[in-house]
Amino acid sequence: MSKLNRRDFLKLTGVGTLAAAGTLAGCAGPGANGSAARAKVVVVGGGPGGATAAKYLRMVDPTIDVTLIEANPQYHTCFMSNEVIAGERSLDSIAFGYDGLKKHGVKVVHDYVTAIDAGARTITTKGGNTFHYDRAIVSPGVDFQWDAIEGYSEAAAERMPHAWKAGPQTALLRRQLEAMPNGGTVAIVAPPNPYRCPPGPYERASLIAQYLKHHKPRSKVLVLDPKDKFSKQGLFTAGWKNRYGYGTGNSLIEWVSGAQGGKIESVDPANMTLQAAVESFKADVVNVIPPQKPGKIAFAAGLVNEKGWCPVDKKTFESQIHPLIHVLGDASDATAMPKSGYSANVQAKVCAMAVADLLGDRTPGDPSYMNTCYSIVGHDYGISVSVVYSLDETANSIVGVKGAGGLTPADASPEFLKREMHYAHGWFANITNDMFG
Ligand code: FAD
Repeated sequence: MSKLNRRDFLKLTGVGTLAAAGTLAGCAGPGANGSAARAKVVVVGGGPGGATAAKYLRMVDPTIDVTLIEANPQYHTCFMSNEVIAGERSLDSIAFGYDGLKKHGVKVVHDYVTAIDAGARTITTKGGNTFHYDRAIVSPGVDFQWDAIEGYSEAAAERMPHAWKAGPQTALLRRQLEAMPNGGTVAIVAPPNPYRCPPGPYERASLIAQYLKHHKPRSKVLVLDPKDKFSKQGLFTAGWKNRYGYGTGNSLIEWVSGAQGGKIESVDPANMTLQAAVESFKADVVNVIPPQKPGKIAFAAGLVNEKGWCPVDKKTFESQIHPLIHVLGDASDATAMPKSGYSANVQAKVCAMAVADLLGDRTPGDPSYMNTCYSIVGHDYGISVSVVYSLDETANSIVGVKGAGGLTPADASPEFLKREMHYAHGWFANITNDMFG
């Protein structure tokens, strides 16, 4: 006799129907009108992780009832937001809606999730609705450690934007650059590890330098860093030498490492000053990228451990704290994958497959993962790093596969670097279509 799976069991008993279909306050599910119970998955957060997971879950198994709860009606990608800041593209070109997901049968709800009850398997929103789930997928991205730099706060970010969540903050930093006089200084306060998009601050420095070179050539970018090294450093500094006179007296970019006193301890937005342990700095435009932590809901739901991130089973992205809740993207501890949109997109596919398998009483397969981070250093000048990963199940760790992936060669020709920039733009078009299309 064949074994009953969970769904057959629910159909036979009828007991699970109400729970599985989500008939709690505010959400009548398919079971409520007498149809068979469908497994119910609720996804929190419609960024790269959540949007991809919701879409792929429906593609893997269209019988699963998928609801995506996202706070905003539009998502602005951080990827390519540095080009918006540099005046290379419009804010609209990085905005995406959720109609594509609806076409895949995802129920999209715009509301803010305030609580997840792992015991009752319910998700509650600010709008007063409660959603029941068989499995939940949580991808809330990062929040900022507002108290890490004295004087910095949400209010201070209106004067010294972080622009590390794309949207109004991106537009604000752009306006400030446009308003800055020729000869001004732009300071970028880089964050400590780990943070979203390890090469992001240095791509930003590059693209701001490109804007200054063409529009305000007597100005400069000062990168103040608590770290002593950074992602793709050799390739970035080679690009800075090639384009912006890095290392000369006339360099458009200056990088101050942690060892050189670059760690900023306090800021004074009224006077536009920044204080490090020894030296203080003054700038006309200040971009503070604060230290980061998982999005608020991850804390409210008790998904964060003492290391500060959400520990997961790397085969399924199921929380190691609360079973039946999966955590993806920037909020999860998916070391050695970097916190990137590409990583979140890949993790979401692994997670969607695993969730479909688990709901269908099948054993999830062995995943592989990959990430490519493109950075644009200037016009016709792109660089990239790619890594393919596999799972070490015993150690629950994601490990790079030797010999797979690679880095832009140090001696790449101008033609090669130009192609990398085109690949970066092609990647953006493809991945946003994969997430939201
Ligand atoms: P997010 O993108 O932050 O999405 C989270 C979503 O959840 C948001 O839409 C938010 O509104 C929603 N949400 C949060 N809490 C709630 C709640 N309680 N209720 C309802 N909704 C909620 N990555 C790359 O791969 N390539 C790049 O070139 C690249 N460039 C970057 C450049 C910059 C300047 C920056 C800052 C980042 C860049 N990244 C890049 C990184 C990438 O943007 C992030 O890693 C990625 O967005 C993470 O996706 P996520 O789904 O984890 O989180």
